[in-house]
Amino acid sequence: MTETILQARNLSKQFGGFKAVNGVSLDVARGTVQALIGPNGAGKTTTFNLLTRFLDATSGTIRFDGKDITRRHPADVAMDGMVRSFQISATFPHLTLIENVRIALQRREGGTFRFWRPITRSETLNDKAEKLLADVGLADRGGRLASSLSYGRKRALEIATTLALRPKLLLLDEPTSGMGIEDIAPITALINRLRGSMTVLMVEHNLSVVAELSDRITVLARGEVLAEGTYAEVSTNPDVTRAYMGE
Ligand code: ADP
Repeated sequence: MTETILQARNLSKQFGGFKAVNGVSLDVARGTVQALIGPNGAGKTTTFNLLTRFLDATSGTIRFDGKDITRRHPADVAMDGMVRSFQISATFPHLTLIENVRIALQRREGGTFRFWRPITRSETLNDKAEKLLADVGLADRGGRLASSLSYGRKRALEIATTLALRPKLLLLDEPTSGMGIEDIAPITALINRLRGSMTVLMVEHNLSVVAELSDRITVLARGEVLAEGTYAEVSTNPDVTRAYMGE
């Protein structure tokens, strides 16, 4: 039996007189990779912001991991285990990659950030940080400054710092945007490895990435759910084709 980790019912968001999201319901099954796709202006980002509580819904409900989080503070939602990839601006450009990931690891452990740690503990943190960097294709770069990375590799670093928080549900906002092919491969390999042990919900424009990774896809158009299913199902749905053609 599949268990739903995230459930949205009838979510709506109104900006002035405009309904950016209009009655969206979706279910994400634990341990799966799900994508939210749709043409520009479909309401993907707004839905993402509603789910992570960065925006208050005008109406509707959200349940995460058995709990009603419809009005919960975003920081508490993150502590519950729903973690959104940080913006690049949240990484520290003048620190090394290892230091960036260590800060996230220490945050997860609930401690305030301290430079001083007993040696053994510090080595464990370094080992964990190096493993996370290797997971996102940044092995052997740990000593470099974050500011020296290309855009695509900064996105990979951002994902490593997010994973350091050991989320139950990882929300990725266009994880491969701005990446070259050489940067995309480690990220898709990583998301494939996470399947089962973690749940992933991503907004992604690159349809070949969506096809490769997604167990289920929710297609939004004009603020509403237009279709839902596997890639084979939604990609052959004439309503979906029409929505993309009209972009
Ligand atoms: P997508 O991510 O699918 O491109 P968005 O969720 O960003 O779509 O936007 C959906 C619609 O809501 C767009 O028409 C956008 O202009 C509008 N919108 C988004 N945020 C705001 C806002 N803060 N105020 C007014 N309109 C907004």
